[in-house]
Amino acid sequence: MTWAESDLHDSGSRVVVAGGAGFLGSHICEELLARGDSVVCVDNFSTGHPNNVRHLLEHPRFMLINQDVCEPLAIDGPLHAVLDFACPASPKDFETMPLEILAVSSTGVRNLLELCERTDARFLLTSTSEVYGDPEVHPQPETYWGNVNSIGPRSCYDEAKRFAEAMTMAFHRDRGVDTRIVRIFNTYGPRMRPGDGRVVINFLVAALANRPITVYGDGSQTRSFCYVDDEVRGLLALVDSDVTVPVNIGNPDEFTVLELAEIVRDIVGSSSEIVHLPRPTDDPSLRRPDISRANELLGWSPEIELRDGLAKMIDWLRTVL
Ligand code: NAD
Ligand code: UDP
Repeated sequence: MTWAESDLHDSGSRVVVAGGAGFLGSHICEELLARGDSVVCVDNFSTGHPNNVRHLLEHPRFMLINQDVCEPLAIDGPLHAVLDFACPASPKDFETMPLEILAVSSTGVRNLLELCERTDARFLLTSTSEVYGDPEVHPQPETYWGNVNSIGPRSCYDEAKRFAEAMTMAFHRDRGVDTRIVRIFNTYGPRMRPGDGRVVINFLVAALANRPITVYGDGSQTRSFCYVDDEVRGLLALVDSDVTVPVNIGNPDEFTVLELAEIVRDIVGSSSEIVHLPRPTDDPSLRRPDISRANELLGWSPEIELRDGLAKMIDWLRTVL
């Protein structure tokens, strides 16, 4: 029986969203409330901000707790699920918060899994395409084991997420916790931090200000960008399913970074020049999800094309910049 069909969901499920004041987590909180669930949002605001959920604070089924999930969690009452979005996620954060990332992906994930064990709740880990590292298989199916530099500048994130997947599977096999693992590929949309450092927000902010768009290297590296609404729909389809193997959720339409820069400049109607800066160490050369598994097991595929998603994000950015 899926979550959506369960008695618990019919009467409204109670869900913890760790990292719920961040970019993706805040959209998940909104969607859960919209479908009738109660949400306990736990966040330490290290890369998120209360403003991301300010519009939810008066909602009778929403609660915000300011807490680091690396500290013991005292959440009373029945829980149906714990969805874990708590982790800094931008390559810029890998430079400034490596130990925090390793802590939240080990101690934090363990705390949340133990909460699930105590309350018989379902657990979702938000893993990442970074577990595939600089991939030698393209596109990347979930069966690919990856190519990660365990001591490089991205290792604090890549290895932390690989460890978090291992911890999740250990609780699943050894403790009987009901777990889900999503491997998210580059997702963009409203509520990304303007100073976040990730490519879509960097390019849009620069283009809107007619400042130089910074392409790292020659821009021939590729990424595949998923709009947040598609991502949220895929994530919740996974949570509601009985699928316990990892599932890629991302948009398989692949672009070079230089193509993205040109598209952004075009849509914004910007006079920004495109400048080239050095490419970061271990920056993956290619990335594109194989989404056959999500398609077959969840009936999910993305619907929003890059230009349409960027236009929505520009509308939002114009209201906050
Ligand atoms: P984000 O930085 O906007 O959100 C992370 C949230 O977690 C923030 O609100 C932050 O304050 C909170 N947080 C961090 N450490 C915490 C701690 N110790 N205790 C409590 N809260 C803490 O990033 P995002 O893009 O929304 O990413 C959310 C999740 O999705 C992360 O696990 C990330 O690894 C994963 N992910 C995102 C993408 C993407 O493209 N956005 C891609 C792959 C994976
Ligand atoms: N990138 C870029 N200019 C920027 C930010 C990023 O050229 O201002 C490149 C980066 O080198 C990478 C791609 O865009 O090849 C995606 O980077 P991002 O930081 O968004 O996330 P990643 O996919 O590397 O985790």
